[in-house]
Amino acid sequence: MGTKVCKFGGTSLADTGQMQKVKRIVQDDADRRFIVPSAPGKREPSDRKITDLLYLCHSTACQKKSFDEPFRLISDRYKQIVNDLGLNLDLQCHLDQICNDIRSGATADYTASRGEYLCGLIMADWLEMPFIDAKEVIHFDSNGQLNIHRTDEAFQNRSKQLKQAVIPGFYGSTPNGKIKTFSRGGSDISGAIVARGVQADVYENWTDVSGLLMADPNIIANPQSIDVLSYRELRELAYMGASVLHDEAIFPVRQAAIPVNIRNTNRPNDPGTMIVPETTPIAHTGTITGIAGRKDFTVIAVEKALMNAEIGFARRLLSILETQNISFEHLPSGIDTMSLVIADTQLNDKLDSLLVEIHHSCHPDSLEVYPDMALVATVGRGMSQTPGMAAKIFTALSSAEVNIRMIDQGSSEINIIVGVHTSDFEKAVRAIYSTFQE
Ligand code: ASP
Repeated sequence: MGTKVCKFGGTSLADTGQMQKVKRIVQDDADRRFIVPSAPGKREPSDRKITDLLYLCHSTACQKKSFDEPFRLISDRYKQIVNDLGLNLDLQCHLDQICNDIRSGATADYTASRGEYLCGLIMADWLEMPFIDAKEVIHFDSNGQLNIHRTDEAFQNRSKQLKQAVIPGFYGSTPNGKIKTFSRGGSDISGAIVARGVQADVYENWTDVSGLLMADPNIIANPQSIDVLSYRELRELAYMGASVLHDEAIFPVRQAAIPVNIRNTNRPNDPGTMIVPETTPIAHTGTITGIAGRKDFTVIAVEKALMNAEIGFARRLLSILETQNISFEHLPSGIDTMSLVIADTQLNDKLDSLLVEIHHSCHPDSLEVYPDMALVATVGRGMSQTPGMAAKIFTALSSAEVNIRMIDQGSSEINIIVGVHTSDFEKAVRAIYSTFQE
């Protein structure tokens, strides 16, 4: 028998209808033995997520105000699900306990985690599987970092006797037994940890889209979906803004070489996107995998004659950033030039003092600032082996009259990044996308 871990996101568990779909999906494949639920999400755009309501209860209680109203919305929603599914599950005692805990000063992490906890109890009953509280198997250290060794061990001790289980997402426990959550959207991470813990053959991440798209659908109408990509390609696309999985969800499965399959609960027959380890051979189709991009960067271009021969120049430049606590994203350089590409969120109001420091410590011949820069990354594993890929990108941009302000191929060789003016961002994405559709 194989082992699949299935994480279901908030929209997949938003109401009874969705939970019925989940049950059909789970029953459809006997390998789907470990289920990691999120908390119920929005039923329609104006609806509220259970997790948001729980955070609201916590912050209201902290202000010593009544949180009866948001708590009632939470209770009603869970009770309705239990009722509509016809379950014989007494949630009232759990709800009373949670309400009392919040009243007596429970932490935000504990409070928020109850969304997944309650949903886990319901799913265990509904799917007729044992329930494992995530606090018993997912362990953080005292600094709040995931303790992967202790977590792996906890799974090893358990999973031998376990054929199936429901393990709520989003939280675990610290060495002193306190509940700790991951950052928002963290059930993806829990699913990856469970997949690693039970040595799954595949980690299925069920959501409301049929996988990753080649480009942002807000820019390209009906972009193609990506059938398969490597973890590295995903990392490059995700960093540049493509979002479907939590950033931190990759490392537990990547180390264990477990593929991730993004699936759509509303279209369970769609194969979705497969994210595979670098070691898995994937055909090079001679095209790109995807395009992603981010806006709001500033470039600081530093020029100095004979920079190449000046020992310690780069160190001095970068140590200024370190002292001012600024991280940079890219550092394209030439013989006498070095450009710092910095996200505006990092720069805030530090630009002037940064320039003063660069003048003072590096004595450049010229120092130019280019604000309003957007980065567009074209990602494809076949890029380094396929002649003409870069030419195609640059020709497409020039035909669309997009001025390229920066080029960075990086060392990963699966990514070409171009910097364009923010106002050209969408035009650049469209030009690159269409040239690879021809
Ligand atoms: N329920 C949590 C959130 O809304 C975690 C998750 O859904 O992944 O962030």
